[in-house]
Amino acid sequence: MTNYKGRIIKGIGGFYYVDTAAGVFECRARGIFRKEKITPLVGDMVEISVDETSKTGSVDLIMPRKNCFIRPPVSNVTQMAVVVAAANPKPNLYLLDKLIAAAEDKDIQILICWNKMDLEEFPSEVEIYEKAGFKVIRVSAETGQNIDILKKSLKDEITVFAGNSGVGKSSLLNQILGDGTFETGEVSERVERGKHTTRHSELASLPEGGYIIDTPGFGSLEIGETDYTDFAYLFREFEPYLGGCKFRDCSHTVEIGCKVLEALKNGGISQSRHDSYCRLIKETDVKK
Ligand code: GDP
Ligand code: ZN
Repeated sequence: MTNYKGRIIKGIGGFYYVDTAAGVFECRARGIFRKEKITPLVGDMVEISVDETSKTGSVDLIMPRKNCFIRPPVSNVTQMAVVVAAANPKPNLYLLDKLIAAAEDKDIQILICWNKMDLEEFPSEVEIYEKAGFKVIRVSAETGQNIDILKKSLKDEITVFAGNSGVGKSSLLNQILGDGTFETGEVSERVERGKHTTRHSELASLPEGGYIIDTPGFGSLEIGETDYTDFAYLFREFEPYLGGCKFRDCSHTVEIGCKVLEALKNGGISQSRHDSYCRLIKETDVKK
């Protein structure tokens, strides 16, 4: 038996595939995990022991997770690449802000990929995000524009691609991996074709180091914050104004003497971001 440390990159039918310095090993989880109701997750860092003759092993230990998602089931994500299309479909800023807030909540790095730049040369909304302090990469999965820059930003990270359907997530993943692994196309026809295939999350390793998660998108995103004081921090450009409002429990939506609303008025905070904030606190049922 030899021991290795590695990362689970795929889990299927009770087998876990663990990427180590010595290669990928097929492992079973030890019975103790089932007894303790712990399920190893794709993304987990683990210790395994491998039988050198059969080259199969067992997962003996799961290291503490930095974070953990349910859909797709994956742990230790370090970066979320939020994909928006410059056109077709036109940007859904509320969804974008919601994904960003969820990533901020989980302390995950955010990368905004403004795709389909071949369709729209000057998408005006990009500035909103650059001004708010986000890293935005203008790309085109169609022409390959700035894919090299995108690849550099994925190095050594575990990146999940998120965004509504049709924005080009699968096309971008194909560009990055340089193959045709991911089905692309109109949503309707893909549902037809994909009917009988079960999806498992998998990590695809990048030649330069790092992984991308091959299940694009999040079905639902939980935000943990439930009071205004913490919630406002999920909108990073609000931060300089927080703490200065007249009322300590200010919701930054209608109050007199609100520094956030003041910044909104004089252009320090953009209208669409503030609109998203208001809508999100309503939908998330945030309490005082
Ligand atoms: P997903 O649902 O986010 O995975 O989106 P897909 O990758 O399936 O892309 C949806 C449609 O947009 C497909 O018809 C793609 O060919 C097209 N598409 C993706 N990226 C680009 C792009 O950069 N420019 C243009 N013009 N079309 C794109
Ligand atoms: Zn306020």
